[in-house]
Amino acid sequence: MSFSALGLLPELVRAVEEKGYTAPTPIQAGTIPAILAGRDVLAGAQTGTGKTAAFVLPILQQLTQSRTSGARVVPRALVLTPTRELAAQIADNATGYGRHLAVRTTVVFGGVSINPQIDQLRRGCDLLIATPGRLLDLSEQGALDLSRVRCLVLDEADRMLDMGFLPAIRRVLKLLPAERQNMLFSATYSQDIRALAQRLLHDPVTVEVASRNATAERVTQCLYRVPKEGKRHLLAHLINAGAWQQVLVFTRTKHGANRLAKQLEDAGIAAAAIHGNKSQNARTRALADFKAVRITALVATEVAARGLDIKELPHVVNYELPNVPEDYVHRIGRTARAGASGTAVSLVSAEEEPLLRDIEKVLKQAIPVVSVPEFPLLAALADSNSGTPQRASERTHSSRPSAQRQSSRRGSGGRDRHANGGHGSSGQRRVEPEVRPAQTVEQRRTETHRSAGSRRPAGGRSGGAEPSRNAGGWRRA
Ligand code: AMP
Repeated sequence: MSFSALGLLPELVRAVEEKGYTAPTPIQAGTIPAILAGRDVLAGAQTGTGKTAAFVLPILQQLTQSRTSGARVVPRALVLTPTRELAAQIADNATGYGRHLAVRTTVVFGGVSINPQIDQLRRGCDLLIATPGRLLDLSEQGALDLSRVRCLVLDEADRMLDMGFLPAIRRVLKLLPAERQNMLFSATYSQDIRALAQRLLHDPVTVEVASRNATAERVTQCLYRVPKEGKRHLLAHLINAGAWQQVLVFTRTKHGANRLAKQLEDAGIAAAAIHGNKSQNARTRALADFKAVRITALVATEVAARGLDIKELPHVVNYELPNVPEDYVHRIGRTARAGASGTAVSLVSAEEEPLLRDIEKVLKQAIPVVSVPEFPLLAALADSNSGTPQRASERTHSSRPSAQRQSSRRGSGGRDRHANGGHGSSGQRRVEPEVRPAQTVEQRRTETHRSAGSRRPAGGRSGGAEPSRNAGGWRRA
């Protein structure tokens, strides 16, 4: 199956070929012809499946073919998406895929000044990508004309509902013309998603790619049972001993993300935190540094990391397990994007056992347990790594070796299940060898460098001087 066989314009086929895509992914093969035929679409797909191109490519084509010359350039397609990062990524993709077409793409999201976005909208926009809150702000300020939107995409709809965007989505829907094509992309189908789909979609084509657990199958997963206090030492050790170059670390709270990033820095590991309290500039910079492998560890909260497209990410660490089991699947999906594979390591403390059980239920498999390396070694590595001075505040707490601190804090209950190597002997699932063979680390390092190099901006223009075609506007089935 080729992209041109899907009915895409030569300009779009050229753009995806220039990106190095050789064949459509299953979600693209399933949705592109349906969208081009004007059908509504309900797509079950998560990030990593190529879902962005699955809706962006046919929308760019529709926009090109339905252009009327002389008309004011107001949005005719709207993509709603939960996070700023995802919005920015979709816009980047749309600009790249549309580089040989004359489609204007604009992205708007909160957390940054609204005025430049108002100016940009004034200059004209065909495809608008937005987070719901900022879209409503712009509409209330009279900066947005949504009366010509003929196509609506709800991307990561399940995530938008999780984040409480349903009322905002309802308000946006009221601003749109009734006659339009609708697409809903969601990784999971809760009752709420089904209800939304029923209200929104008319006779949709349903495309479901690889069940939500399929990604997990391509990822090498393992877990360490480790007391809370030992997690940072273990993480520093894994990064150092495995010569990890790029690891995305999930924490539960913004504060926890900040603290861990600092602790890793203190252990000599270049790290940055990314979460909702950071300014957009700081988030963009941290992500850029991480993608360029200028920092090793990006410590993120669930929401901030949602939808980040970091190619061939070799390692994901659940520093804390997520409360929602499906989030585990999303998280580890980061390492297995577009055919690449990776490792997902979870650091599980005694308090997190119930969460682990829920996750394993969803996965329908047990995650292999790896024995924790010797803590004195870990602590020494983490605390005195490459001469990096320890923070004064920590020295106060560290007058005893970490191993002692951990074992005295842990108490006997914790020791049974969470002490070093205690699991194998307590009859739990068997212990695997240390995380990875050296050769694989080396391979991954090479891959990381290669992908870092290949990640340079393509230098494409956004929109172009291509004469527009008019094939008569949006079609409906
Ligand atoms: P997405 O699921 O949209 O976040 O896409 C995940 C990654 O897959 C992105 O880095 C895309 O650039 C990449 N991708 C999308 N479509 C293809 C394709 N047909 N072949 C190879 N890579 C692709």
